[in-house]
Amino acid sequence: MSYAQPKIMYCCEIWGLHPRYNAKRDALLSGISRHLRQLVGVPNCVPLALLADTLQIRPADHHWCVRAVNFWCKLWARPSNDFWRQVAVDSWHDSFQHGIRNFAAGIVDYYNYLHLPVHTPHTAQYVPVHPPQAVLDRLEIRTAATFASLEPDPRTCLDRPLLCTYARYFRKPVGNSAPPLYMLPLAPKSCRTLFRFMVGCHGLPVHAGRLARPPVPRAQRYCSHCGPPSVGDERHMIFECAALQHLRAAKPLLFDSPVLTVAQFVWQPKRFAVARFILDGLAILVPAVD
Ligand SMILES: [Zn+2]
Repeated sequence: MSYAQPKIMYCCEIWGLHPRYNAKRDALLSGISRHLRQLVGVPNCVPLALLADTLQIRPADHHWCVRAVNFWCKLWARPSNDFWRQVAVDSWHDSFQHGIRNFAAGIVDYYNYLHLPVHTPHTAQYVPVHPPQAVLDRLEIRTAATFASLEPDPRTCLDRPLLCTYARYFRKPVGNSAPPLYMLPLAPKSCRTLFRFMVGCHGLPVHAGRLARPPVPRAQRYCSHCGPPSVGDERHMIFECAALQHLRAAKPLLFDSPVLTVAQFVWQPKRFAVARFILDGLAILVPAVD
């Protein structure tokens, strides 16, 4: 990524929001997303929002947009007789007076998209200039809203089950400074397995049933050890599966009060013990897990 980053950011101040490059930007973003999924070894069904949050990275398009806005703000901060400021003035007037879909139009479109104030109808005298931090704040709000809008229980949710499972079980709680399980200094194979577990690609019946053709209804993805009505999902593996009772008995402190939810289990301070339990549990329930 450190090699690719400078290339995919090259001159994005200019094309990052320019309407002329909308299609090319979408194609580039799609390619980056595909390569990111290949890099971390997950299928295309894993949402980009989930990957970005797990890896604690900002999607490439956010970088493009913030840098374009930053460039726009710098142009307007220059002296009124500066050549580059005059370029910005011309761009703004062409957009406002002649409806030309240029650089300034892309900036205004983006401010509108983020619900940052833009006078409507525009006036030639009023130029919307919101700093990059305002854009970052709005992007944070949008991300938070995406996760907040998900249903409370992954077992019963009807919409975006992968994202819902991640948000309710594996997303880092606010204020928790513990490293994600996949960042622990473990063998690369173990880190990969833990990462795939957090993004729902672990081979448990809830995952295998999703990949089956035709897909098995979620309520019928039974645990192969416990059978109906136990659905073989992450919560079942950690708290309920009879096949892992000996692992729980060996590490009772992991399940002490107040560990009542998957999130509380995953994000408790005993990081290595949690990772070991998940790895051992997957080895029993999904022997072929990579
Ligand atoms: Zn079971």
